[in-house]
Amino acid sequence: MTTRPRLVRTRTELADALGALGGARALVMTMGALHEGHLQLVREARALADHVVVSIFVNPTQFAPGEDFDAYPRTLDADMEALAGVGADLVWAPGPADVYPAPVRATIDPGPVARVLEGASRPTHFAGVALVCTKVVNLVRPDVALYGLKDAQQLAVLRTVFEGLDVPVRLHPVPIVRDHDGVALSSRNRYLAADERARARALPEALSLAVAAARGGAGAALAVEAARERIEAEGGIAIDYIAVVDDGTFDVLAGTGSAAPQVAANPGPATIVEGGLRACRVLVAARVGGTRLIDNMELPLVCEEAGA
Ligand code: AMP
Repeated sequence: MTTRPRLVRTRTELADALGALGGARALVMTMGALHEGHLQLVREARALADHVVVSIFVNPTQFAPGEDFDAYPRTLDADMEALAGVGADLVWAPGPADVYPAPVRATIDPGPVARVLEGASRPTHFAGVALVCTKVVNLVRPDVALYGLKDAQQLAVLRTVFEGLDVPVRLHPVPIVRDHDGVALSSRNRYLAADERARARALPEALSLAVAAARGGAGAALAVEAARERIEAEGGIAIDYIAVVDDGTFDVLAGTGSAAPQVAANPGPATIVEGGLRACRVLVAARVGGTRLIDNMELPLVCEEAGA
C-alpha cells in the first residue's frame, strides 16, 4: 500500500472529506514526528474499521510554559510518506486556530487520575489532553479511537473522561512498540545524544526487573525498589517517579522519586485478572540529559501482597 492519504487542514475541509467516507471509521491521534509506534496504531486501526483518519497536531494546551512546545519536531512531509505505507485514508493536520477558533472557557477536569504521576509533574497536562481529545473526537466522530499504552495514564484519563461524559467512541489500547534494545519508541528520543540513548536502556531494564520481582512474589514497594536500584546503578538519570499503580483505577500502590508519588489513601477495589492476580502497571518518568522519557510495563501482583 503506497497511496498517499488525503491531507486536509481546516474544519470545513475535514467535514467535507468525512462526508465522502462511508462505513466505520477509526481515529489515530498524533502530534506527528511519526515512528513505528504511531504506524502500529494505524495498522491496528485498519483492521478495526473501513477508514482510518489520522490527526497530526502539536496541541498547545497540553504543554506548560517552558516545556518543548516550540521545539517539538514537526515533520509533515515525512509523516505523510510514512502514512502512505500503512494505509491511512485521511490526515487532518490543523493549525491551532482550526482546533481552537475561539478561546475555550470550558475546562475538563478528569478527576484524581489526572493528578498523580504525570499529572503531579505536569499539573495542566491532562486537562489539555482531555480537551483536545474530546474536541478532535467530536469533530471526527470515529467509531473507535486508538491510543498507545506508551501513554498509559493518558489512556486512563481518556477512559474516565469519555465514559464520564458519554462521548460515543470505543477506546482501543495498543501495546508499546520498542526499539531493538528495548527502549520505547518516542518522538522525543531524537533529542538524545548517543551516550544518553545508550543510558536510556536502563529504563526498560529497570521495569523488567520490577516485573520479575513481582513474578517472584515481591509486593509493589519491593518491585519499585528493584527498578530504582537499576536506574541508580546506571547513573546520570534523574528519576522523576517510579510507581506501581492498579491498572484499572490508577491508584498508586507504591512509588519513589523526586516527584514523590502519593500512595492512594483510599484505594478503590483491586482490578483482578485471571488467576487471582491484581492487574497493575509499573511506570517510570526520568530525565536522561535534558530529555524527559516515560515508559511502563504490565505487572501482575499476587493480591495479598499488593500493598506490601
Ligand atoms: P504522540 O504523537 O506522542 O502524542 O503519540 C500519539 C499516539 O501514539 C499516542 O496514543 C501514543 O500513546 C502512541 N504512541 C507513541 N509512542 C508509542 C509507542 N512506542 N508504542 C505504542 N504507541 C505509541
